[in-house]
Amino acid sequence: MTPTVRPYNFSAGPAAIPEDVLREAARDMLDWHGSGMSVMEMSHRGKEFGEILASAEADLRRLLSVPSHYRILFMQGGGLAENAIVPLNLSRGGTVDFVVTGGWSQKSVKEARRYATANVVASAEDGGFTSIPDAGTWKLSPGASYLHLCSNETIHGVEFHTLPDLKALGSDAPLVIDFSSHVASRPVDWSRVGLAFGGAQKNLGPAGLTLVVVREDLIGHALPACPSAFDYKLVAENQSMYNTPPTWAIYIAGLTFRWLLGQTEGAAKGLEAVEQRNIAKAKLLYDFIDGSSFYTNRIDASCRSRMNIPFLLADESRNDAFLAGARERGLLQLKGHKSVGGMRASLYNAMPLAGVQALVAYMREFEQTRA
Ligand SMILES: *Cc1c(COP(=O)(O)O)cnc(C)c1O
Repeated sequence: MTPTVRPYNFSAGPAAIPEDVLREAARDMLDWHGSGMSVMEMSHRGKEFGEILASAEADLRRLLSVPSHYRILFMQGGGLAENAIVPLNLSRGGTVDFVVTGGWSQKSVKEARRYATANVVASAEDGGFTSIPDAGTWKLSPGASYLHLCSNETIHGVEFHTLPDLKALGSDAPLVIDFSSHVASRPVDWSRVGLAFGGAQKNLGPAGLTLVVVREDLIGHALPACPSAFDYKLVAENQSMYNTPPTWAIYIAGLTFRWLLGQTEGAAKGLEAVEQRNIAKAKLLYDFIDGSSFYTNRIDASCRSRMNIPFLLADESRNDAFLAGARERGLLQLKGHKSVGGMRASLYNAMPLAGVQALVAYMREFEQTRA
């Protein structure tokens, strides 16, 4: 059989999955490791799935260097459900703070208001979400139950390159981060984070799995209205099997964790190596955009996302032609989010450098031959 060359997929999510992972899953589709069953057909309480879950959790702990006093929970409902689940579990009836840097954090505040008193301590909306307000200007609420931020805004293309140190800002509140769209793209500084959540479908695997990493002392304070299946305490006590977990999504994410653990480059290993690759990929595209008079990205250089790169064409009437030409060359799903317009290239871990090189070559050609 001749190996097929797959197109480069720039989708923001559900997004590209490493080809090695897809091939392994395809090979084991009908019979996982001699069990006679597909992973989709197994009891979640059986020995086989038990092994899959335990390895996925252990591999993720190693990959993200999650300290032992943090629990890893495999949940469902996506990032949007966590916008409710987090205040239900962590607000304790108090005030919760938000930094608004784009469409996702905006959604998070709105949902939290249904369960808690939510306070926006800083917002980049006036500037069109092109920068991150300096942490020194944040008006933190005294005694807030937590501070929430979206560490990578998938739609607006804004990323916190370093997480704020709330203690240094005089706050004891735990930091909650929505890391849906850059989880496992770089190491996490857990000393600054109380809880991190993310949907798997951007950078870890298929839709249906939500990852929650939470410091143990933050568990066990759910409001009475919190649904049992979303109470972190019950989920933790039952090793993410309070109810049937998304077994297939956990399996594929587990293969991705292993694929990532296997990556090394130069002296750096694991996520440091992955981060260096992601920086190099993003730099290639940003440098090209900045050097061109036809394409623009308006995000401040200090907080440009390495994962999601929105850009505009100088002549918007040519958007459809740009997308059609890209598709012909095997460059898929480059259309921007409807609230921002233009284009967006998502360069998750599964996107090789060669894919970004192919995109840049096409962008150069499109600019030259049709300008
Ligand atoms: C995609 C995304 C979400 C929403 O995830 P769902 O799985 O659709 O609920 C939330 N936050 C961020 C940063 C995202 O990129």
